Amino acid sequence: MKPTETYDVFVLGAGPAGYTAAILAAKKGLRVGIAEGSRLGGTCTNTGCIPAKTYIESVNLLARIKGASKFAIETGNPKLDFVKLKARKDRIVTRLSKGIEYLLKQHGVEVFGANASIQEPGSIKAGDVLMRARNTIIATGASPKMLPLPGLQDSWTSNEIFGVTTLPRSLAIIGGGVIGMEMAHIFSSLDVKVTVIEALDRILPLEDRHVSDTVARLFRKVEIFTSARVTHTEGHEQRKIFIDTPAGTKTVDAEKILLSIGRQPVLPAGGGEIGLALTPSGGIGVDEYMHSSVPGVYAVGDVTGNHMYAYVASREASIAVDHITGGSKKMSYRNIPSIIFTDPEVASVGDVKAENRTSEKLNGRFPLSALGRARTMEAHEGYAHVVSDSGGVIERISIVAPHATELISWAALAVDQGLNVTEFLDSYCPHPVLAEILKEAAEEILGISVHHVS
Ligand SMILES: Cc1cc2nc3c(=O)[nH]c(=O)nc-3n(C[C@H](O)[C@H](O)[C@H](O)COP(=O)(O)OP(=O)(O)OC[C@H]3O[C@@H](n4cnc5c(N)ncnc54)[C@H](O)[C@@H]3O)c2cc1C
Repeated sequence: MKPTETYDVFVLGAGPAGYTAAILAAKKGLRVGIAEGSRLGGTCTNTGCIPAKTYIESVNLLARIKGASKFAIETGNPKLDFVKLKARKDRIVTRLSKGIEYLLKQHGVEVFGANASIQEPGSIKAGDVLMRARNTIIATGASPKMLPLPGLQDSWTSNEIFGVTTLPRSLAIIGGGVIGMEMAHIFSSLDVKVTVIEALDRILPLEDRHVSDTVARLFRKVEIFTSARVTHTEGHEQRKIFIDTPAGTKTVDAEKILLSIGRQPVLPAGGGEIGLALTPSGGIGVDEYMHSSVPGVYAVGDVTGNHMYAYVASREASIAVDHITGGSKKMSYRNIPSIIFTDPEVASVGDVKAENRTSEKLNGRFPLSALGRARTMEAHEGYAHVVSDSGGVIERISIVAPHATELISWAALAVDQGLNVTEFLDSYCPHPVLAEILKEAAEEILGISVHHVS
């Protein structure tokens, strides 16, 4: 078979990494093709960020309506229709996926609705079509890791859970990371009995320990086991999950199991044969320009196995396209904010090691309960925590509060620009807003917070 066409750039996978790379390359006037074996938008649009946040938005609204009497509003007995919630998610996902299709077409990107494989460097096959590519960008993402233990083969993962139309009575979530805890929030809010089983000694292990402890305490309806390893399960309709804990073997009963123990890079067929160097986590190894060990082949997004966020994936895509078009911008993984859509939300930015206080570090913390705007929202649980070095340069900010996932952008700017506390406080913060929690926490470092009660 002879190659039919030659592309300046051919992209494998149309998630946030792939479609961003394709559109940016097309904007530079290059001839671009992209292959997607499933639905445009990838994990983020179809089974990740967007479905999760759609469900969370609905359960949060339900909770607000249930708590309406605190706002002097009488309501009946609100109920969430789970089948309609799934339909709402399907509508949103389809619209966003079609939006990506429109953007790709509008930029003249040629879309192949098929899985692609790499025949040799510069030679790609998408479905039955063979083509040449001056540059190849692999953006094939990642898939949920499985646990090779007896009885877990038919567990749900994030790939299946958003297709479910009947709620289980009980759900055991194996893995208390970001995805696991967001799922715990969703399903416990829907009155499913949720148990989280985490192998490490705390949930959300990438956050500050005080954040992990606070979130664990606030998940009142969820039973959480930490330092707990699943050994095996018994039963089908009703599972008995055996876990090793520091207090000995325990069992958890659950109708369904959700595995959320991390994600594994997905390499395209042929990727191994062309000699791509891999990282210890099985991702494609790249340099600071997102270039792999094979000339002309780049890898971006979750397939690198690094920092699996949509917003990191699209940044990596822009770096790869810049390099392809003669630029020399380097990828930076400094100060990537993390966001978790629990209730309250959690967000943080900066060096997590700054939490390990030494005498020359400074801390400021301000509780949500002392903030006027939070009081108007009947929100009492949470805080902001700011850490600076001895010179006052802000090193880390963590927030547990409503809309923390929005507030973190201001914090990220401060940390990324290396502002010190005084510079941070120089800019006005309006009143009454939730963002004042950052201002007050920073003021605590200087000992000038007016509203803090010791
Ligand atoms: C439940 C959940 C919630 C999440 N929430 C967030 C969040 O709130 N914020 C955030 O930033 N991130 C979130 N993420 C992570 C985010 O979804 C990923 O980081 C992001 O999708 C990575 O983008 P990507 O383009 O690298 O890979 P993907 O989005 O996985 O896209 C890869 C695409 O490649 C396709 N593909 C694979 N092999 C081939 C092949 N051989 N040929 C052609 N196509 C192929 C796949 O079908 C897929 O569409 C979440 C993930 C999950 C699972």
